[in-house]
Amino acid sequence: MASIIDGKAVAKEVQKQIKEEVDGLARRWGMAPGLAVVLVGDDPASHIYVKNKEKACKEVGIRSFEHLLPATISEKELLALVNSLNKDKSVHGILVQLPLPAHIRAEKILEAVSPYKDIDGFHPLSQGMLVIGGGGFRPCTPMGVMKLLEAAGCDPKGKNAVVVGRSNIVGKPVALMLLEKHATVTVCHSRTASLRDEISRADILVVAIGKAGLVRGEWIKPGAVVIDVGVTRLPSGKLAGDVEFETAKDRASAITPVPGGVGPMTICMLLYNTLKAAKDSIQRER
Ligand code: NAP
Repeated sequence: MASIIDGKAVAKEVQKQIKEEVDGLARRWGMAPGLAVVLVGDDPASHIYVKNKEKACKEVGIRSFEHLLPATISEKELLALVNSLNKDKSVHGILVQLPLPAHIRAEKILEAVSPYKDIDGFHPLSQGMLVIGGGGFRPCTPMGVMKLLEAAGCDPKGKNAVVVGRSNIVGKPVALMLLEKHATVTVCHSRTASLRDEISRADILVVAIGKAGLVRGEWIKPGAVVIDVGVTRLPSGKLAGDVEFETAKDRASAITPVPGGVGPMTICMLLYNTLKAAKDSIQRER
């Protein structure tokens, strides 16, 4: 029977450490890290997400600046806002909530965010730095996955890690971070010939697909550590992960629940990156 990796508890502990550091910055430099959140349109899920971010910032002493914009805003106007936030010294991190309306090219906007303020880690420079093992910002959900492995006492070194999903925001960066920690990494996707066979060899399994229960419990190698990133809202209103939890927990040695696993870590890592951006800005100005 697997131990359940409690993302809420891990996030709470990391947030406590972030708050201590934020308090330290206030004492030593008289400054507070600032996060600008840009939200275009009225997608209800995005609004809830942004509200949660604002609340989390407040709890640790990070200032948050919300920019709620109508869906009719032009790409040019949005670029102008991003450029002004790039110059604003009270803003250390900029988050542009995705998805953006179809008439705005998301890649143009993400590229306009200063790499110094790219706390989402979506700028091509940040992504390139991750590939070469450099020091840029890392995307929040993959960082959360790595923190959960650490919290579960799982060192990836020498282990077979299988990542299911190859998106730029989850699958690919998680695979690179596992490789950096010396795991032997396999990345699976929709054209993988036998998902079951690949998964059955995983000592560490990270799943980020977005299809509830697609990974069956019986595919999992006994003793594997399983991190389920997927979130799907079922017709019943409940949230479900990509891994069949009830059967998987009888084979894995540790597993994340959905909800309460990776989810709480994502916002927590956003706070971590905002704090890092503020600390980096002090270093640059010294
Ligand atoms: P995405 O961009 O849609 O990517 C999904 C990936 O799954 C793709 O690489 C796709 O393969 C692969 N896939 C689809 N069907 C498959 C199948 N039958 N077998 C194997 N691979 C398959 O999704 P994402 O943005 O990475 O997100 C994935 C999930 O994580 C979603 O449920 C999302 O809500 C969740 N998520 C959670 C958090 C959090 O904070 N908890 C954060 C981000 C994402 P192809 O590349 O071949 O199409």
